[in-house]
Amino acid sequence: MLFRRAAHCCCVPTGKPGKQSLWHLIVPALMSAGISVIFYSNVFARSPDTENSSINCSAMVVAIDIGHSIQAPGTRSARGVPEYIFNKRQATAIVEEAGQDFPNLHVIILNDQGRNISLRQRVQMSVNAGASIFISIHHDSAQKRYLRQWTYKGKSLDHTPAIHGFSLFISPQEKNGPSRHLAAEIATRMIAAGRVPSDHHAEDIPGERRLLLDRFLGIYAAPFGVLVRSAIPAVLVEFGVIRNKDEEAQLAKPAMRQKLAKALLQGIARFCRNDPAGCDGCQR
Ligand SMILES: [Zn+2]
Repeated sequence: MLFRRAAHCCCVPTGKPGKQSLWHLIVPALMSAGISVIFYSNVFARSPDTENSSINCSAMVVAIDIGHSIQAPGTRSARGVPEYIFNKRQATAIVEEAGQDFPNLHVIILNDQGRNISLRQRVQMSVNAGASIFISIHHDSAQKRYLRQWTYKGKSLDHTPAIHGFSLFISPQEKNGPSRHLAAEIATRMIAAGRVPSDHHAEDIPGERRLLLDRFLGIYAAPFGVLVRSAIPAVLVEFGVIRNKDEEAQLAKPAMRQKLAKALLQGIARFCRNDPAGCDGCQR
């Protein structure tokens, strides 16, 4: 969920490419500095499928930002589950999928412990880790006017039957930049996986009015903190509307998380293959 927040998440400073050799220096430095970054090496993972193996990156680092924190968990689902739980489960699925099918991608999770760290810190952690791509993981809600009461397990909760679908956000400065290309590749893969984009954030109502760049791919521009601060391609992904009880039920399934994880990583892989100049660290 992102509305009603002047600044949400993501990236900017000088993200340098992820070279495998560099990792041997970076990881011990991070650990000694007490920085909570989890490193998942896929170098020894099993052989990739044809498309995934076409990446020309020797060891590209993808930083995954789990949106929100345990203390400030974001929105809540139609069944009362905090958004942070959905975000963390999806981030974990991305790491697992990368380990299975994307040996050229090093996926790291920022804020794995769910600490209440600032947006600036999240971006700085991605820079420190040598990330080439920044992805912020979120799940969406809807404005009050679209909420209806329902009863779940004896509790009165609210849900939206009207709003569903995924949305991708990039920095306004990146409207024609690498982040736009990255978002388009991810959206294309999510649609191929059976998901639908949403244009509800562009509606002319309080709390929305976001700049919709591509209605068919669900891509918006918004000055969220992690996006405007990032110097590397950065996309904030709202995987779906968990305040919609039907979509929540779909997104809660491990098989769906795995499918979405694969779509995301395929989008990143395709982006790197087609636009290596925008994907710092590729072809080195
Ligand atoms: Zn959120």
